[in-house]
Amino acid sequence: MEKKRLEELRKKLLSKKQDLAETVNQDESEGRGFDESGTQDLADKATNSYTKEFLFGLSDAERALLQAVDEALARLRDGTYGVCVSCGGAMQAKRLEAIPWARHCLSCQEEQERQS
Ligand SMILES: [Zn+2]
Repeated sequence: MEKKRLEELRKKLLSKKQDLAETVNQDESEGRGFDESGTQDLADKATNSYTKEFLFGLSDAERALLQAVDEALARLRDGTYGVCVSCGGAMQAKRLEAIPWARHCLSCQEEQERQS
């Protein structure tokens, strides 16, 4: 895959992670009343996503998504990004465009959905 393309996907993944961090921040603001000083540590939460407090603020689905995003970022780092974890085949560019944190190619995904 092209370097430029990988960089674009990396940015998408990082902004998704940021979205999740903002979700937590909003939930907290609603829970305790808005606290202006609370917005300041948002960046810290985004970069250190495994703090207990951060994970506590996420739903199961959001947590699973965050994990998928983190795994995708790890694959980008070690150069295995864009390869289906099931069949080892190259993932469709369109699929990565739509879901940059996807672990399976389209046919493996469909296979899994049939089984579950
Ligand atoms: Zn596959």
